Amino acid sequence: MKIKSITTHRLRVPTGDKAFYSSQAAFPERNSCLVAIETDSGLIGWGEGGQYGPGQPVATCIDEVLGPRLIGRDPTEPVRIWEELYAFSRDFGRAGPYIDAMSAIDIALWDIAGQAAGLPVWKMLGGRFRDRVTAYATGCYYPPNYQNLPAVLKALEAETAGYVGAGFDLLKIKIGLLPLEQDLERIRVIRETIGPSIGIMVDANHGYNAGNAVRMGHMMAPFDVRFFEEPVPPEDRDGYRKVRAEVPIPIAGGECEFTRYGFRDFIGGGCVDIVQPDIAACGGLTAFTQILTLANTYGVATVPHVWGSGVAVTAALHAVAVIPAFPHTANPTPLLNQPVIEFDRTHNPLRDDLLEEDFVLEEGKLKIPEEPGLGLDVREEVLSRYRY
Ligand code: CA
Repeated sequence: MKIKSITTHRLRVPTGDKAFYSSQAAFPERNSCLVAIETDSGLIGWGEGGQYGPGQPVATCIDEVLGPRLIGRDPTEPVRIWEELYAFSRDFGRAGPYIDAMSAIDIALWDIAGQAAGLPVWKMLGGRFRDRVTAYATGCYYPPNYQNLPAVLKALEAETAGYVGAGFDLLKIKIGLLPLEQDLERIRVIRETIGPSIGIMVDANHGYNAGNAVRMGHMMAPFDVRFFEEPVPPEDRDGYRKVRAEVPIPIAGGECEFTRYGFRDFIGGGCVDIVQPDIAACGGLTAFTQILTLANTYGVATVPHVWGSGVAVTAALHAVAVIPAFPHTANPTPLLNQPVIEFDRTHNPLRDDLLEEDFVLEEGKLKIPEEPGLGLDVREEVLSRYRY
């Protein structure tokens, strides 16, 4: 079996009146780059990369540089191909669009390899530890009128009550855009709305310096925060270490890191308690399994970051399936020592409508796919609606 063609799909979804803010920016649109790799035997593998920013640079890396090198190659050797592409692009790649592109290619190759073997990707990766995984809702972004605090608090009550009603036991909210006292008020209202038993995690999207992250960590600790994500910018390794040493909440991060080399410094440098590689950014499933081993070796838990289309969510479900309970106990508990999956709840038809398969939340859990490969089918009409 040989690779016959590689097709990129640059996707963009305007969020319109559902636009929202993190601490960093407004999100007037959602972006991604999907890749479809076709073999001479007719199998098609799907992958995704570069969902943080525009899809064009990622598509260009695939179309102009990496993709042509793969024509005629055996698609059932994703690890070998990863190493060769990385070595080839080392002098000009190593992070950003090139690794996003390699992520997309790698996910698609694992999809093909699984289909060719008649095995789901999680089985190709060594076997799953679970057939369902607890999902956490990612929401509580900031509305465009975020400076109107009473209106913001009222909207948060309705939004968080909806997550509890849908069956979520874990909820991740945004902080970092407003002054500390106002974000603390948002956390207080959410805690009061959802009660004491639902887990709250917070994500600052690197909106603080280390001193203020420590201050905020102490302020919000009484609200039983399960982890504090991206307290400081990803480049600020010393800041991460300071926050981790001084804040009584587990520290999470890693969505802006790339490959085992970036994660070696991040994990080995003592920056986090929970590492969050994004399968569609860190270098695909090949890089993910390496990062998982690295994290486990250093005593760090792994909970993937998930932000992309249905393709990225599906790849993440296969990845989460192969994460061992960490550390092992006779009664693994979600997030305490059992991995969970991020389930973004903002408006995104690329996640909700692109695939024939639906992500169905049952008792707060998502099912791990059982079909060979990734086990997904892309709807052509949805793809063409958002392609540019
Ligand atoms: Ca995040």
